[in-house]
Amino acid sequence: MKSNSEELFQRSLKVTPGGVHSPVRAFKSVESTPIFFKQAQGAFLTSVEGKEYVDFCQSFGPLILGHRDPDVSRIVKETADMAWSFGTCEPYSLELAEWITNKIKWVEKVRFVCSGTEAVMTALRIARAATNRSKILKFEGCYHGHFDSLLVKAGSGLAGDSASDSAGVTNVSDTLTIPLDDEEKLENVFKTHGDQIAAVIIEPLPANYGLLVQRKEFIQKLEKLTRSHGALLIFDEVISGFRVALGGMAEILKIEPDLVTYGKVIGGGFPVGAYGGKAKLLDLIAPQGPVYQAGTLSANPFGMRAGLATLMKMENENIIPTLQKKTESFSKSINELFEKYSHDLQISSFASLFWIHSRTNKPVRSIDQIPKDHKKKFNQFFHNVLVQGIYLAPSAYEVGFMSWAHSDEVLYRTLEKIETALRGGGR
Ligand SMILES: *Cc1c(COP(=O)(O)O)cnc(C)c1O
Repeated sequence: MKSNSEELFQRSLKVTPGGVHSPVRAFKSVESTPIFFKQAQGAFLTSVEGKEYVDFCQSFGPLILGHRDPDVSRIVKETADMAWSFGTCEPYSLELAEWITNKIKWVEKVRFVCSGTEAVMTALRIARAATNRSKILKFEGCYHGHFDSLLVKAGSGLAGDSASDSAGVTNVSDTLTIPLDDEEKLENVFKTHGDQIAAVIIEPLPANYGLLVQRKEFIQKLEKLTRSHGALLIFDEVISGFRVALGGMAEILKIEPDLVTYGKVIGGGFPVGAYGGKAKLLDLIAPQGPVYQAGTLSANPFGMRAGLATLMKMENENIIPTLQKKTESFSKSINELFEKYSHDLQISSFASLFWIHSRTNKPVRSIDQIPKDHKKKFNQFFHNVLVQGIYLAPSAYEVGFMSWAHSDEVLYRTLEKIETALRGGGR
């Protein structure tokens, strides 16, 4: 069957809402129609037309080693000949759980699920059960998956001119929302609702509405207020966990939240999420405790074994600092190109994440600090580099991901292509 992306998209529109199985994939945000890809290896994606792209989306974060890393691939093939799903007790989830709880001491217990959304959903359920309170505080622009009560002023596919809400969601009166980077509003919300807040949930590195690196003092203040009001602190590390440090942002900030949620990197490219924290909270979960959570395909052997192989390789080869250096020097070179060709764009990075945005003279820490012309400028750049064979996540509000497979040579060629794009399509 030989088809091009346009034909496949037209067919998809007939059988799937918006033609996609997750909104950002539709290229709506970049005002275009999607490319269909048939294969991926290392740093590269191959379209159905046979064109190769350097992939800086990497499935929106899970693939920290790149597509089909050879060491992980060996384990996956072995697993295919072993078992596809057990639905029983097995040793593989135990090995991953032991690795995580050994590495991150304050995560005393962990439970595996199949997505970040599920992990967050359960963390909130535990928080409400543990505190006997109902309210949850979240921050504008933070994305915590598509769980109803958190689809309020959320990022990811809901990011746009302002953070929006989803239709079809009710009973969100228990969700309180305030901007990031605003100590005064934070204090006020605790003053008014402090004794009703079960938990505060935050992406300690907000990366679903651009990359909004927070001041350490802001998160410290947040920790202090949750403690003094008896609310739980939940770090949503679905994107930052095992990527910015093996212990995530919690390790970098030296803050131990009560509960943490993981996803993306933890499954090595397979559908895995997890929630963890202090044993006394995790023991509220069935069959130990009264909070119910279950899953037919939970702790699937592909995800458990690919995840552990990924994490062990990252540790053994000390991959995180190398990725950080790579990302920093790549970003520096791109910023030099933006200057050289007088483009009003800028790239900011944190560890192996980066964000291309319209130029600002101050770091952007909350969604209202994002320049108004940002989307227009990003979209133009997105299409100019796409033609050159560089694939960025198709939205001005998604971040880019550096992987282990982005070799110096690949990055050098990428910079040449970006220079061609800026020279040719320069406006
Ligand atoms: C991706 C993401 C989620 C949702 O995870 P899914 O696996 O897509 O359900 C939740 N929180 C954060 C911070 C994320 O980046």
